[in-house]
Amino acid sequence: MPDGLKGSQKAKLFSAMATNANRAYTVRLPAWGGPTEAPSVEASRGGGTGRRAGFKIRFPKGSGGSIPPSGTTPLVTNIMMNFCSYCGESVSRKTPHDDNRKRWVCDSCGRIHYQNPLPVVGCVPERDGKILLCKRAIEPRYGYWTVPAGFMELGESTVQGAARETREEACAEVEIGHLFAVVDVIDAGQIHLFYTAKLIGDFSAGHESLEVALFSEDEIPWDDIAFHSGRYALKKYFEDKGQNTGVHIHELRRSRS
Ligand SMILES: [Zn+2]
Repeated sequence: MPDGLKGSQKAKLFSAMATNANRAYTVRLPAWGGPTEAPSVEASRGGGTGRRAGFKIRFPKGSGGSIPPSGTTPLVTNIMMNFCSYCGESVSRKTPHDDNRKRWVCDSCGRIHYQNPLPVVGCVPERDGKILLCKRAIEPRYGYWTVPAGFMELGESTVQGAARETREEACAEVEIGHLFAVVDVIDAGQIHLFYTAKLIGDFSAGHESLEVALFSEDEIPWDDIAFHSGRYALKKYFEDKGQNTGVHIHELRRSRS
């Protein structure tokens, strides 16, 4: 299991099979990542968004850093919607013709509002064996460390997104390498993609970061890594040590036993 997990996080473990190009293995990670990976049901109602922040993940108001007890929050299969974004009229939850699941459908214009997982892209910038991490200057997870990562923007590729996030958070340029970790964050409706990267030139704290710094593997503040997906990526990065170009796939969700 990952080092440095705290209290109740340690108590909530689950197993998931993950594979890469060369082997299959079982990994164990905490089932829940705190507020940043909380379900985003009705997140727009008094909740928050980490806009431009690390993973920029919506989190319910009052989640406050605690880990929701298992079984108290239903699986998120939709995000609350009140009005049609096309015509402004009300929407209803119904199964469209020739579909197999319920969607938000406009009561007036009939538009179907599909909701799908959002991609988050990031990278592990390395120079001389050390990794560039950013200490978050924003919520969620203020003061915790993360690899550069965030939601993709329209009009860019995953590689461009990972490089842009590094530029924004660490004022650094990177040469993106290969995709090495994919984390399905089921409960948050997200998929996190991590690339290897070579750090080029100088770096400094962007407006979303309190500080940025290079860490060797044994210097990494494992207890203070902001997100489980980022911790997973770092662990796999060091396991690979540049020798494996496969992709680690991991599923992160709360136990539903
Ligand atoms: Zn409408």
